[in-house]
Amino acid sequence: MTQAHEKTSAGGVVVRRDGIAEVCLIRPAGRRVWGLPKGGVEAGETLAQTAVREVAEETGLEGVVDDTLGTIDYSFYSREEGSRIHKTVHYYLMHSTGGDTADHDHEVSEARWVRIRDAMHLMTYPNEREMVRRAAESLGETVD
Ligand code: ATP
Repeated sequence: MTQAHEKTSAGGVVVRRDGIAEVCLIRPAGRRVWGLPKGGVEAGETLAQTAVREVAEETGLEGVVDDTLGTIDYSFYSREEGSRIHKTVHYYLMHSTGGDTADHDHEVSEARWVRIRDAMHLMTYPNEREMVRRAAESLGETVD
């Protein structure tokens, strides 16, 4: 077996609290998945800049980074590249200073504010759920 290619992405756990704590989730186009906005690092970008750009593209929200939340990693086979990919994703705790979830790009079917408690049920990947749990903890919210 050939060795997996390494890829790096960055994304945001964008939270708001108007009484109820909510997180912004996305449903990528053509996939039955709810998860966090994220994407690949482009040349010249810092990881935090990638996270802010991907949040803007995928959720329509202007995000500001407040803290780091940690990284997740996973492997999958890419038919496009004909090889296994090992991907590391760096997540940032963010809040939004503007924008609208209606303004997400075409790679996303829907971007939606979801109560953090509901997000824990809706989200597809346990490793992303852990990032939201950490974000909730930093807001002083309990999720389980
Ligand atoms: P990016 O948003 O970084 O540009 P992408 O949309 O091209 O990436 P991924 O979202 O990384 O691709 O999905 C590639 C594969 O990995 C899919 O099969 C997907 O189901 C799986 N995958 C995505 N996120 C996770 C995760 N958090 N844990 C495990 N597997 C995942």
